Amino acid sequence: MPAITAAAAASQALQAASTSTPTMAPLNAELLQLDLNPTPAAPDFTNLVFGQKFSPHMLIVNWNHRTGWSAPLIKPYGPLSLSPAAPALHYASGLFEGMKAYRSADGSGKIRLFRADKNMERMNRSAARAGLPTFDGDEFIKLIKTLVRIDREHVPYGEGQTLYLRPTLIGTPDTLGMGVPTEAQLYCICSPVGNYYSSGTGSKPVSLLARTDVVRAWPGGTGCYKLAANYAGATRPAMDALLEGYHQVLWLFGPDRQLTEVGAMNLFVVLRDQNADSETTRYEVATAALDDGTILPGVTRDSILSLLRAYKAGNVQIEGLPKPENVEISERKVTMGEIIERAQGGQIAEVFGSGTAAVVCSVDKIGFEGVDIPIPIQADGMGMFMRTMLREVTGRQWGAIPCPEWSSVC
Ligand SMILES: *Cc1c(COP(=O)(O)O)cnc(C)c1O
Repeated sequence: MPAITAAAAASQALQAASTSTPTMAPLNAELLQLDLNPTPAAPDFTNLVFGQKFSPHMLIVNWNHRTGWSAPLIKPYGPLSLSPAAPALHYASGLFEGMKAYRSADGSGKIRLFRADKNMERMNRSAARAGLPTFDGDEFIKLIKTLVRIDREHVPYGEGQTLYLRPTLIGTPDTLGMGVPTEAQLYCICSPVGNYYSSGTGSKPVSLLARTDVVRAWPGGTGCYKLAANYAGATRPAMDALLEGYHQVLWLFGPDRQLTEVGAMNLFVVLRDQNADSETTRYEVATAALDDGTILPGVTRDSILSLLRAYKAGNVQIEGLPKPENVEISERKVTMGEIIERAQGGQIAEVFGSGTAAVVCSVDKIGFEGVDIPIPIQADGMGMFMRTMLREVTGRQWGAIPCPEWSSVC
């Protein structure tokens, strides 16, 4: 009977998705095997264009729905062997994370990760949404740290340069079936990357094209997960924005044109109650809430909100901001209507994006329905909040500002 068949298939699928079956091995960093690269290339930090050079090693762990996680392996960086039917290739059965390893500037040789636990939580939420296996994030962090230690010479030394880490999880069974994948591969590759703020030239503000004809994410969709499926559809709109002379897409949502994200960054809008900065000016730092599933919960976003809230509560000293009582922090809808109105009154103080790649990135213009809305930018290409958050967040990433809750040594 079809009902029984369907129920049996569903229970089989559920079993496949579960990592808690007693016979299935959990991810275990102690089982790590090493197959080291006999001829690792020397580190090359010239022309560090994002994501084009890779360190000599990668980490890989296979998963099977019957046996669970296999012994992790660190091996030479190289191609995967994959069934041409693998759901990763057909149904975007895959997800990723973006993290960085930071080399201390103090000459101690220490290399740090920043809030890696947040990336692991998010990766597991993405996996659960995609029907891919979840895993013990602490074990994966141990493995990533070992990988970084092995490739430590490939963590760049220059100011603002890092080793970008790309944890990835893909569905790999040899089947075109659309069910929950019965096999998966979890891996991590590493790419030395340059300083987004290439030294000396200061900040590079970006211009945004607010588009009403394309949507990145929607309530109940997958926008709040770092699923591969979210990104292919964003590439052509991004190129169109470039062709129209803007740097990035400002993704809007809904008939009221809510501002959601910019490119692959979260968005902050700083509003003020008068048309200039003064001792008595009151500011609101606003970013979209995480309640409807359209916003990617960025680690940088959370770090900025946490720092500002701690500042407002008097729990942390931060120089360069208005008095705590003059700063409000809100997670709420901001619409294009409000942006236009507040811009006319000179009440937009600054707009910036946030994400692991750039940390923060200021906006100098928003193009919307054929009109450019100018956004204030100070002489160094930054705004007061953006500049201060850049210093406070990077200080904690590199270890210049001690922050054991957020920073851990590899
Ligand atoms: C990764 C990402 C961000 C930024 O997240 P961080 O954890 O701060 O790097 C924001 N928006 C989108 C769509 C993203 O993919």
